[in-house]
Amino acid sequence: MLTTIFLLAACNEGKKTDKETIADDIDYTTFEYKVDRFADIEILRYPVSGFNSLSLQQKELIYYLSQAALEGRDILWDQHNRYNLTIRRVCEGLYENYMGDKSTDDWKNFETYLKQIWMANGIHHHYSEDKIIPKFSQEYFTTIVKSVDPGRMPFRDGMAADETLNEIIPVMFDPSFMPKRMSQAQGSDIVQTSAVNFYEGVTQKEVENFYNSMKDPNDDTPVSYGLNSKVTKEDGVVVEKVWKLGGMYDKAIERIIGWLEKASAIAENEQQKDIIDTLIEFYKSGSLETFDEYSVKWVKDTDSRVDFINGFIETYTDPMGLKGSWESIVNFKSIEASKRTSIISDNAQWFEDNSPIDDKFKKEEVKGVSAKVITVAILGGDTYPATPIGINLPNADWIRRDHGSKSVTIDNITFAYGKASEGDGFKEEFMWSDEEVELSKKYGALTDNLHTDLHECLGHGSGKLLPGVSTDVLQAYASPLEETRADLFALYYLADPKLVELGLLPDNEAYKAEYYSYIMNGAMTQLTRIQPGKDIEQAHMRNRATISNWVIEKGKEDNVVAFEKRDDKTYIVVNDYEKLRSLFGELLSEVQRIKSEGDFEAGKVLIETYGVKVNQDLHKEVMSRYESLDIAPYKGFVNPVYKLVTDDNGKVVDVTVSYNENYVNQQMRYSKQYSVLPLKN
Ligand code: ZN
Repeated sequence: MLTTIFLLAACNEGKKTDKETIADDIDYTTFEYKVDRFADIEILRYPVSGFNSLSLQQKELIYYLSQAALEGRDILWDQHNRYNLTIRRVCEGLYENYMGDKSTDDWKNFETYLKQIWMANGIHHHYSEDKIIPKFSQEYFTTIVKSVDPGRMPFRDGMAADETLNEIIPVMFDPSFMPKRMSQAQGSDIVQTSAVNFYEGVTQKEVENFYNSMKDPNDDTPVSYGLNSKVTKEDGVVVEKVWKLGGMYDKAIERIIGWLEKASAIAENEQQKDIIDTLIEFYKSGSLETFDEYSVKWVKDTDSRVDFINGFIETYTDPMGLKGSWESIVNFKSIEASKRTSIISDNAQWFEDNSPIDDKFKKEEVKGVSAKVITVAILGGDTYPATPIGINLPNADWIRRDHGSKSVTIDNITFAYGKASEGDGFKEEFMWSDEEVELSKKYGALTDNLHTDLHECLGHGSGKLLPGVSTDVLQAYASPLEETRADLFALYYLADPKLVELGLLPDNEAYKAEYYSYIMNGAMTQLTRIQPGKDIEQAHMRNRATISNWVIEKGKEDNVVAFEKRDDKTYIVVNDYEKLRSLFGELLSEVQRIKSEGDFEAGKVLIETYGVKVNQDLHKEVMSRYESLDIAPYKGFVNPVYKLVTDDNGKVVDVTVSYNENYVNQQMRYSKQYSVLPLKN
């Protein structure tokens, strides 16, 4: 599970000091956080604070793991849609070889389109899941493709330009063909109406039957069925094509394994070496038992400085919630900042015992929550260019139950978000008064990070299901409800005097910064991510809207928190922070009940009432105020570039990191260097 940024990017006073005291060669006063800007996207750059003070062995390990992280890029592209690789390579071929007029609006729109699909790892928007419709015409596209020497274009298997164009033009230009990457529309066949390449030629019913027949209700340590395969039909029979060496995605996986072998040879310790070797074994066999074995070993490693995620991990992009999107992150522990998360995990049982939920839903014994703050060294696959700011893995319920989970807060990404948003006028425009702006500047970064820590490290792990209840019964509401629960847990405890006592917050005022910005975002400013007339669909957005709108309604009588108008502009005003906290507690108790009892109806009513529909007038107003600030609603990142430095004998003597590469050059380089899959898989 992961946490995405919410739009009110953290401010960074206080954090600045953390970074600037780390002995490395980054000059933070001249570091360029902003890289590119197009459509609804801004591309940023993150500093890898502390990289230069790692040991040579650790740096070399990061180098090999980062190569493994980049090799899976095309797997994700193909997972998102089976035409993605063809479309990208044709567009990149054009970008490099077109000799005509590049000053026209058509060409500029074409460049923007290419940048957009790079950001989304495919032709569907990374967040809304809607197909990105080009702002240039089909005729223009056909003309420029035909103007380029076919020998320079990546037409598949010697296909002529015409054949390739016939294949990709409806995919790119017809709004009704594969309109959504993932469809959640109730009552439709979500397998057939989703554009992802996890399924082909099969119905939702067939997929359900296929996996249900594998499940053993008495198995309390089941593998993650379907995690690493595509489902299709051969001779009328439903089959799985497994993503492994010698199977689907063979060529990319072979290269991932090659880098992992180098990493294994230089691992920090035996335990880490064993983890990497088990992952290699999984990629070779495709066995999901081996993947679980790997996950258990991985969750137990809390001592290594360098850590990584590499594989088929999150299932958000699959309408059935089974298939893992390929992703990788390589990181190292941020020692100083991790003291914060150790305090939280050391006190996990206290938080569980004092939670405002019914005792029968509490865990008697909270197990193995390990938490740390990390510095990301590379982002790959599903974490690039758009990236989470917190991650809690593994996802398998039984592993979490028996072995615990590892939770991380990504420090340098949040830091870069904050830096890039300095002075953008957002707070001044949307916050009620100077008081809230000052509160946010003073405590925003700290409480925002603490929220992520509490959400990931304790929130997701807290509470228990009653015997015989499975989260599956909550269906499409399971994800938003689970995020709601984790957020409420964090919100409730942010205001607890215990946090001041533990030294996590400086005083009893700080939490107000997060309370205010959370509701402002959930009830108002996150609407900037929604197209006019559309519902809220994304799980985290549904959760934030649910919490915010619910407390506004329930707090009406006591005037706890409300919308207020001033000069025709709408604001959130919090009148009673303490009562707001009890409302969070009340809702947490109810959401925990819904989850523990598997109360589908109540869960559905809660989310549908507060988390889906949008007030059209408010939406219009927020959009127009937001547009006047000219801020991109979505951010992505470029990676730094690592280079091995060798001596005359070829021995590695150093690894350097640099930050000079821009977005276009990086994407084009990745497409050359890490692109070995056939156009269609
Ligand atoms: Zn979460």
